[in-house]
Parts: sequence; structure tokens; C-alpha cells
Amino acid sequence: MRLADKVAVITGSGSGIGKATAFRFAEEGAHVIVNDVNPEHGQQTVNEIKEKGGKASFFEADVTIPESVQALVDYVIKGHKKIDILFNNAGISNVGRVDEVDPDVWDKVMDVNVKGVYLGCKYIAPYMMKQQSGCIINMSSCVAEMGLAKRALYAATKGAVLSLTKSMQVDYAPYNIRVNALLPGTIYTPFVENYLKNSYDDPEEAINGIKKRQLSGDLGKPEDVANAALFLASDEAKFMMGSPLYIDGGVVFG
Ligand code: NAD
Repeated sequence: MRLADKVAVITGSGSGIGKATAFRFAEEGAHVIVNDVNPEHGQQTVNEIKEKGGKASFFEADVTIPESVQALVDYVIKGHKKIDILFNNAGISNVGRVDEVDPDVWDKVMDVNVKGVYLGCKYIAPYMMKQQSGCIINMSSCVAEMGLAKRALYAATKGAVLSLTKSMQVDYAPYNIRVNALLPGTIYTPFVENYLKNSYDDPEEAINGIKKRQLSGDLGKPEDVANAALFLASDEAKFMMGSPLYIDGGVVFG
């Protein structure tokens, strides 16, 4: 088991990539703290992990609210005395050119995607520093490194996460904490389903267009990203520090 006895916090793990990663980490022996703003979905993830014999518990918290994230951290420390892995995965998206983005939408997407990562790290890093060990995985995206129509705000948030990751790695390396980023391409999750529904008259045609842009010829699956997250969380990635890990079917370099 690659994560035996590890305690892992995964934000936004009631759905999509976070949920698939929660399953994968639990299969490898971790106790997974499932976090989400949606308690039904979060509890469902926990129930499914337990049905398969894994260890998990749910804590409802909004990653944009400092008190909420602090409460999540207090809950984990009270129950487990340590946090080995933090996967800052929670994220939302929007569609539109910058001139079409309302200021409140700008703030909301920035808050979840960037402030959420900052708050997770702010409250969990001190415990990892005390432990002299830890692994932080931040969810960026391949759009951090490419231009994509009507995705400027979302891309800016994911670029910010990548920059945060690199400089945080420098700050936390002396404490034996690794900080890396995942850069997925288009992964078929509820997040992408909603984006396609809200952006295109014919979502099927849009999917075919996305497939054509990928060297892989297909969209990714949540499990593809979960496997990459597992690698980063495991000792096998001990030489990966401040790295962007692409799971994008070749879209960035294709
Ligand atoms: P998803 O919508 O299926 O899951 C995201 C989860 O985050 C949801 O359960 C949601 O309730 C939760 N969440 C939202 N706001 C929250 C908050 N304030 N606090 C706590 N939880 C919150 O999405 P997904 O496709 O699995 O995406 C997960 C992450 O991966 C996101 O950061 C997204 O930007 C990133 N990503 C996704 C893709 C893709 O193609 N799906 C590609 C690159 C990056």
C-alpha cells in the first residue's frame, strides 16, 4: 500500500477528480478526509469508500472562508493528530471574455480557485512544518500555459496556482514538504459537462472538437488525474518539487 497510515485532506472531493482521488488514496491505505461545500455529495464519497473497505470521513467546509478552513483543520488534527497530504482540488469555472465577466464572478472564481489554495496551505502548512514532513498538491490546469477562448479568468486563476506552487516549494523545502501542481487537460466530469451545456448549442459537437485538439484523441477520465495525484502523494515522487505535472492527452504540446 503506497499511502499506508497517511492522513489525506482532499478539498472538493464530493465530485469529479477529487472524488476519484479520494477512492484511489483510500485504496492505497490512506484515511481520507473528504471535504466539500456539498454535504450530500461529500457524504456519498465517504459512504462509497467505506463500502469498499476504505477509511474516510466527511467535513463540510467552504475553502474560501478562513474560519471554515480552520475548522476543517481542527477537526483533522483532533481526530488524527497529523496531516500528511493536502490536495487543494476544489475549483469552479466561468465562461466569457474579460469584458463579459462581472466583477462579482471575478471575485468568486478567484476566491475558490486561488484563495482556497492559499487558505488550505495557510492553515495546514504549520502542522506539516512541525511534523517536518508533508505533501501538498495544488490543482492548476493546462490552461495556465495556453490560450483558450472565453477562459481568461479561469486561466488566470490556474496560472496563479502554478506560481504559488513554485514559490511555496522554495519556502517549505527546508521543512521536508513537497509542493507540486497538477495540470489536467479536459477531463470528463460534472464540471466539464456544465461548461459544455452552458457554452455550446451542441455539446456533442463541442466534445468532438475537443477530442480533435488532443493528441490522445479523447477526453481524460477523473481516474487519470487521480493516478497522477497518487504518484505525487507517494514516496515514488520524492524527487518532484515545485513541478507541474501534465495529464492532458498532449493538448499543451500537441
Ligand atoms: P467538479 O465540479 O466535478 O468538482 C468540484 C468540487 O468542488 C464540487 O464537488 C464542488 O462542490 C466543490 N467545491 C466548489 N466550491 C467549493 C468550495 N468553496 N469549498 C469546497 N468545495 C467546493 O469539478 P472537477 O472537474 O472534478 O474539477 C476539480 C478541480 O480540477 C478544479 O479545481 C478544476 O478547476 C480542476 N480542473 C478540472 C479539469 C476538467 O477538465 N474537469 C481540467 C483542469 C483542471
